[in-house]
Amino acid sequence: MVGVIIPAAGSSRRMGQNKLLLSFGGKTVIERSVAPFLDMEDVGEILIVVSQGETVIPSLFCHPKVRVLAQGGETRQETVYHGLLALSKECDTVLIHDGARPFVDTKEIDAVICATKAFGAAVLGVKARDTVKTLEEDWIRKTLDRNEIFLAQTPQGFDRKLLEEAFAGTKGETFTDEAGMVEGFGKKVKAVFGKNSNFKLTTPEDLTLAKGMIKEPVMRVGHGYDVHRLTEGRKLILGGVEIPFSLGLLGHSDADVLTHAVMDAVLGALALGDIGVFFPDTDEKYRGAHSLALLRETVALMEQKGYELGNLDVTVAAQAPKLRPYIETMRENLARAFSVSFDRISVKATTEEGLGVSGESKGIAATAVCLLFAKPSQ
Ligand code: MG
Repeated sequence: MVGVIIPAAGSSRRMGQNKLLLSFGGKTVIERSVAPFLDMEDVGEILIVVSQGETVIPSLFCHPKVRVLAQGGETRQETVYHGLLALSKECDTVLIHDGARPFVDTKEIDAVICATKAFGAAVLGVKARDTVKTLEEDWIRKTLDRNEIFLAQTPQGFDRKLLEEAFAGTKGETFTDEAGMVEGFGKKVKAVFGKNSNFKLTTPEDLTLAKGMIKEPVMRVGHGYDVHRLTEGRKLILGGVEIPFSLGLLGHSDADVLTHAVMDAVLGALALGDIGVFFPDTDEKYRGAHSLALLRETVALMEQKGYELGNLDVTVAAQAPKLRPYIETMRENLARAFSVSFDRISVKATTEEGLGVSGESKGIAATAVCLLFAKPSQ
């Protein structure tokens, strides 16, 4: 079984903040660095080693393969060592991957696993594209043969026993990567050729480059539709506004059909199902619930996923009563629930000319379309 150690306890001095928690395209750097390993059959365990007291990173992961260990060391070497000690005994092959290397793909990981199994130690990297020179103060000392230069990336893979022996055999020495340590221990490491796109986020400039590489949509569109039956003895609530009328809408909650369509649009944009999944009408907790409060929960979920509302357009179909006097208050209520300005929310009312469910005053229907944007990196 392959075990993966992700050292994620670095201080990110060059970025000025914890770069692993920078988010772009709706996902943090650390989530992206871990993601390709999750679905790989050979990988049985992923151990993310964070600093003591780190709470945000653990909250991002809920996957049977992932464990978070709050035992980061002073150096990367020490952090990886703590990870190695904590890794399940069944892991006979160990991969180490930087928490700030978000663009590795499964093909590259597979190639490292294969080479590790065949040769005991392997490192992913690329040949130098530029000519490499060594410096002496500000003067070039020597030009190296570019064909002999290999720029090491991660993952780096090792037979577990070999890695344990290398840690024991090189105690007291400092290495910038595990391959270097295994070389220092006198073992050969196989080079696996990868891609330049698998770079490590180190400077703010790298982040700009990373944002340009995101393939996930930065915008998502959603559509919601709902109908509730009109009946006597119930309140009529639309967009959180109680409207005086002889009939009201029937439902488990306050039956605010307009707000339900909005929630479905947001959940639809995120491909998370519908409100029945999150607020089932079989749950007593939601009996008589204020739909605006449920909308606020939906908005919180959207924000957790890294999105914010671009704009929202709602149409309500009702033969009666006249809704125009209440529209502005509905917009205000929705704008407040999304914490956006009023001009991003549109609510329109129509009749269906006496036809169908709404036209015959049997019920009220609502449709909603929303556009969500991935939040810019924080
Ligand atoms: Mg409904």
